[in-house]
Amino acid sequence: MDKVIKDFLAEVNKRNQNEPEFMQAVTEVAETVIPYIVKNDVYYGQNILMRMVEPERVVSFRVAWIDDQEEIQVNRGYRIEMNSAIGPYKGGLRFHPSVNLSVLKFLAFEQIFKNSLTTLPMGGGKGGSDFNPKGRTDTEVMRFCQSFMTELFRHIGPNRDIPAGDIGVGSREIGYMFGQYKRLKNEFTGVLTGKGISWGGSLIRPEATGYGVVYFVQKMMEHNGAGLAGKKVVISGSGNVAQYAAEKTIQLGGKVLTMSDSSGYIYDAEGIDKEKLAHVMELKNIKRARISFYIEKYPKAKFVAGKTPWEVPCELALPCATQNELKEKDAALLINNGCVCVGEGANMPSTPEAIHQFTNHKILYAPGKASNAGGVAVSGLEMAQNSLRYNWSREEVDDKLQSIMAEIHQSCMDFGKEDGYVNYVKGANIAGFVKVADAMLAQGVV
Ligand code: NDP
Repeated sequence: MDKVIKDFLAEVNKRNQNEPEFMQAVTEVAETVIPYIVKNDVYYGQNILMRMVEPERVVSFRVAWIDDQEEIQVNRGYRIEMNSAIGPYKGGLRFHPSVNLSVLKFLAFEQIFKNSLTTLPMGGGKGGSDFNPKGRTDTEVMRFCQSFMTELFRHIGPNRDIPAGDIGVGSREIGYMFGQYKRLKNEFTGVLTGKGISWGGSLIRPEATGYGVVYFVQKMMEHNGAGLAGKKVVISGSGNVAQYAAEKTIQLGGKVLTMSDSSGYIYDAEGIDKEKLAHVMELKNIKRARISFYIEKYPKAKFVAGKTPWEVPCELALPCATQNELKEKDAALLINNGCVCVGEGANMPSTPEAIHQFTNHKILYAPGKASNAGGVAVSGLEMAQNSLRYNWSREEVDDKLQSIMAEIHQSCMDFGKEDGYVNYVKGANIAGFVKVADAMLAQGVV
């Protein structure tokens, strides 16, 4: 078996040189899915995983725009249309200086499995740019978004490819891009998700990823006879996913001890409650300030510069910032300090070595493609509402989100049970794979 996996990875690597994040995502899937393929005649011999790792289409383009000093800036834009076997391409746009082909291909590949797990008809895609919105004025961000969409609009559409937000792309950026798409196409369609409520957005979409992570963690804990109430919870990040993961944790009685950004983390031993979280949201969403400002208002808390929060003892850890932010030594520290459950809000935040620590110690560990699927699931619900030209209430969307997270949890259990332990990595990868593979086989070699 090891040889089959090794040969497969060597072949993929040959075609995707210098793409470490993409290879990392493919390796994690190959290690669990290839043994399943080999045991199942329907998939064996169909080269199905090799077909899945090859994007259906990769678009790369120049984004030229003029900043407030009237200097001409040049960025690079991308859209990876990875797989459309079960529905139109769906996945976010990321604006961050670290964006490159490898990062977006890893995200697009993960998205295939995640979208399949949601039970909704969505294929996998991802895109973005190396543009850094941090420190840019609103008008600069608008000009960038307009220039970006002036090329992207050719490749997307409500039945073809429906982007959403991700790191650096929130409601402001979605608004500017939607406005430009509408102007270019002269159509009002649900071509992007994460829209404002008054112009086609869904209630609960901003909350969905963070809430979904906590609903998933709640299921994992319940399955082990425990709950969230009274548990100490360490969260990384302070963006969209982290904020709503914190909000739902607080609502369910958990004690949130930390939040972070790329400059370091804040530790509030008394717990970040509803009022303190509202301050974090104001700092990050309105003032666009650093997380370290938190201690100006709450001086009993401390700010630890340049570090991640995994050294803080906790029962639950929710990495909600970025890829590879939780390393082997962090995982060992978490386990030693009594952590029993890790639910990923970010995509691929744990390194492969950290994941091995979690699974070797048999602690509850949910990979992002399962636990953070709530965001894209509610994006799918936003698309459904746009097609119906109708809006569901908060309660209706939240109920649907909870059922979807419960179904994803069940799928992970169905495919990931290993004597007395649920291997959620294996469960999520195989459950996500089966639906897409069946559709690809039915549609022939295309
Ligand atoms: P935001 O841009 O709203 O927030 C990102 C947060 O992560 C910020 O606190 C940011 O800090 C921090 N961060 C980003 N890059 C780094 C880095 N290199 N090192 C340390 N901290 C970093 O993004 P989201 O909350 O939307 O996304 C967070 C994660 O969740 C990503 O992995 C994303 O792919 C994933 N995700 C998001 C979904 C969504 O619906 N938004 C859906 C599913 C997954 P700083 O401000 O200093 O950069």
